[in-house]
Amino acid sequence: MRRVPRGVPAQTDTEPAPPTAARATGATPPASESAAPALDRGAPTSAPSTTTAPPLAPEEAAAALEQLAEEVRACRRCPLAETRGHAVPGEGNPRADIVFVGEGPGADEDRSGRPFVGAAGRLLDDIITKGMQLRREDVFICNVVKCRPPGNRVPTQDEVEACAGYLERQLNLIRPKVVCALGATAARRLLDTELSMARLRGRVHQAYGFPVIPTYHPAYLLRNPAAKRPTWEDIQKVMELAGGS
Ligand code: SF4
Repeated sequence: MRRVPRGVPAQTDTEPAPPTAARATGATPPASESAAPALDRGAPTSAPSTTTAPPLAPEEAAAALEQLAEEVRACRRCPLAETRGHAVPGEGNPRADIVFVGEGPGADEDRSGRPFVGAAGRLLDDIITKGMQLRREDVFICNVVKCRPPGNRVPTQDEVEACAGYLERQLNLIRPKVVCALGATAARRLLDTELSMARLRGRVHQAYGFPVIPTYHPAYLLRNPAAKRPTWEDIQKVMELAGGS
């Protein structure tokens, strides 16, 4: 059983504070950076939590994801429910090969209830459509925490743990071939580590039983165009694991 680390991980000098408009979510275990068993963070409700169960048919997965989204919109498990505009459950293909996971909704996402719709989201759209030659609706996009932390601060450990079951359930319903963690905070949350993005990227990790590729957050790329090259290398690895290249 893995536990996410206590306390809010400090930002690295390789990837500063998470984006303001659209932050992503992620996490992982400390002992090993590579292999990590499924997390047990107390899934908020029912639903499959093991990848050993047979996958649902696409329409069943879509219905289960929508039910989960309704639970998220009604959720009051942590203090973020008090300050959110809209909860942002995530959206996309219910049987996507690729799931992008950010840290948490930003202001634009909080207003719209949709993930990655601000400036960073538009860059993510470009990565998906122009770089990967996919459509946004071909992948699934969500965050580690489903409600916006005030001022776009990093979510607390308690908030991450309160929300973790939703992400685990989403992944078990979707059964992606690969998860792409967007940003240092998302990667640290998914992988339960304090390592920097520079240490994490370039390798395949595991979280919730799924391969995880960490890469830079689109908002970081807006501020640091030089990071686009390594990000593209990571995205190519994502496509490779998804069978797309
Ligand atoms: S962040 Fe997650 S746990 Fe907290 S209120 Fe929103 S949906 Fe519930």
